Amino acid sequence: MQPKEDELLSSWIIRLAHAHGYKVQTMCSMLLGSDAAIWNRDVDQLAPIEDLQRLSTISGASIERIEKTTLRSLEGDLFEKHTPHGICRWIVPIGVFHRSRRRPGLMFCPQCLKEDPEPYFRRTWRLAFATICAKHGCYLLDTCPNCNSPLAPHRSDMQSRTVFPKTGLNVCCWKCGFDYRKTIEQPHFLEELHVRFQEKLEHALNVGYVEWANSPNMHSLVFFEGLRALIAGLTSRQTRNRLKRSTNISIAELSNFPENGFEFANLPSRRELFCILAKVTERWPKSFVDLIHECDLRYADLKGDSHRRPFWYEDVIHLEASAKRISTSDTEFNSISNAVRARNVKFSAFKAKQLFDRKLHWQPVTSVSDETYDELLISIDHEIARTLDSKDRAVLIRDKIMFAVGRVLKLTQNDLACLTIDKVHQLVSNTETADFYNNAKTPAQARAWVEWYWQNIRHQLEPNDAVMQVFTSVQRKKGIKRTTVGARFRRAVNANLLDRMNTEYKAWIK
Ligand SMILES: [Zn+2]
Ligand SMILES: [Zn+2]
Repeated sequence: MQPKEDELLSSWIIRLAHAHGYKVQTMCSMLLGSDAAIWNRDVDQLAPIEDLQRLSTISGASIERIEKTTLRSLEGDLFEKHTPHGICRWIVPIGVFHRSRRRPGLMFCPQCLKEDPEPYFRRTWRLAFATICAKHGCYLLDTCPNCNSPLAPHRSDMQSRTVFPKTGLNVCCWKCGFDYRKTIEQPHFLEELHVRFQEKLEHALNVGYVEWANSPNMHSLVFFEGLRALIAGLTSRQTRNRLKRSTNISIAELSNFPENGFEFANLPSRRELFCILAKVTERWPKSFVDLIHECDLRYADLKGDSHRRPFWYEDVIHLEASAKRISTSDTEFNSISNAVRARNVKFSAFKAKQLFDRKLHWQPVTSVSDETYDELLISIDHEIARTLDSKDRAVLIRDKIMFAVGRVLKLTQNDLACLTIDKVHQLVSNTETADFYNNAKTPAQARAWVEWYWQNIRHQLEPNDAVMQVFTSVQRKKGIKRTTVGARFRRAVNANLLDRMNTEYKAWIK
């Protein structure tokens, strides 16, 4: 009797026993010795080669064919090295304890079982990427729909009173006897993208290569190693935090993701993860690159702790998320930011990337150059020219003079709020004639501006008589508040769209 297509070793052994009219345990004792303890372990990972040889003799199936039913035969295609006693990459652990199974590790598709002339369990149903059936477009299950027990098909004939196990017993629950083929399908929604991704994964494993990342035939191992690195990067705590900003993917289901490997995650979490992966890897690397920029994902978080990062993944995160950024020239930055604004879109690096496919790297300005100082003052001049209301104009002139004096004399927000004309004279002994063709750059020029303001503009804000401060509030009719200085400064920077400029007043006087 031959194993069926993609049949799992344990499934085949059970069918073999039942076909010969034996219970599983009886046949195994007869064939492999009474001390045979194959069911005390994860037989699909650990069956000794001698046992397979004996099974080959009685079944007529070749040893090569039987070997292909084991999970270790995926070595070289799905994982580099089979590690039977630890956690094996991509294999869902079943947590064997004596003969019982503590945690679900074997899955099934009720529809597949129903359609099988002789129902059997697939090797794929032990793999961590298998969460849906692409053929039937439905969820895989990993517990009995009737009693919630993990699957343990080798135990299903233990309760049976009949000497000859009936057919189909292997797909009945060992605990409650429920026939998995009678599962009533729960309504659920599967995204088309997710189903296609599942097909791609299974196809890659079947044929040993995949069309991926501009490579027409990437070795499946390279593909799967890269996917696992991507999973580690996406599920890292820091990345999950940043992914909350995404408008495209929801990470609700990922919030309790285990740190020790995604193979330990429960089936619903893994299903959600692969649904996200399907979106993230769509038209690789386009969707992922968009996500990196949208959520500002970082190289350090995406690289995970794995050293195995195939080029197709490493190249992308290195180029797009690395801290080693090539800075954008000022000219280029300005032309791109102007073009973004020309579309009436609020400027951001993400928008720039979206509209022009150009990644911008710049540091927010920590100190302000004289050029930017001029730029801000000229922008305020333009605002003044556009403003018809005389009081509003006076407020803008106050701001301009205040920022200029603050900058030149290195006055803090508090200094500006308290500034009196006596204090100005104390700070600057000499003066010159006020010149409005050039912005004040020297203390003497700054003093001239303040004096001009004091004489010509200040009264328009109608301060109370007793008020001594130079800069006053139009509402309060008293000296301007320290916090208002900061707020007015931020307003000026934002209103004039000086994106790269730090909006904190303190950077202005650095
Ligand atoms: Zn199916
Ligand atoms: Zn059950």
